[in-house]
Amino acid sequence: MTTILLVEDEKEIADLVSYYLKNENYTVISCATGTQALEELDKQNIHLAILDVMLPDLDGFEICRKIRETQTYPIIMLTAKGEEIDKITGLTIGADDYMTKPFKPLELIARVKAQLRRVTTYNGGTDSVMSIRGLFIDLDRRKVLLDDEEIYLTPLEFSILKLLCENKGQAVSSEGIFQTIWGEKYYTSSNNTIMVHIRHLREKMKDSVEKPKYIKTVWGVGYKIE
Ligand code: CA
Repeated sequence: MTTILLVEDEKEIADLVSYYLKNENYTVISCATGTQALEELDKQNIHLAILDVMLPDLDGFEICRKIRETQTYPIIMLTAKGEEIDKITGLTIGADDYMTKPFKPLELIARVKAQLRRVTTYNGGTDSVMSIRGLFIDLDRRKVLLDDEEIYLTPLEFSILKLLCENKGQAVSSEGIFQTIWGEKYYTSSNNTIMVHIRHLREKMKDSVEKPKYIKTVWGVGYKIE
């Protein structure tokens, strides 16, 4: 399942683009404001974002920047006619493509497909797939399957799982997790943040604290996957 975040305040365009995307079997999260879009970022496992530049609250560039702090999936910007400057700004802050309005929905769909194909091809053939006791993790496609069923992790949960997998067999300290993933200074209170995410991860992976199948707590140190 491929999920696309669509941020567009013009209802007719949003509805039309949504319609075409759904027709291609993509799951669409449609947001009319930047604030709403930012809320979705941590909740959903997104594979591509389409961002309108002119929004009532934030602009599309801010959302693009926010996504790029943690994510590498393709971003397509929608700009109004004549906003050539937007195209340049968009590409420098990490957008992958842009479309000028008015555009044909089918052309946007073609660009979406091209971007998704590029990601798949680029990441293809690497050995970034891990399988641990019924848990299957595709690090590049950010896909996690548990006993053949896909489980949906937030970007933060996925990053923690990825970090633990990359250090399989070794304990990763809470401090290490926090500094790698949040990129901020670690305080004692940061540990609570990590604990919350680990708890959610365990719930989603049906793992238990007492008899962990996947994530083990190493008391006084941190966590590990064996
Ligand atoms: Ca707009």
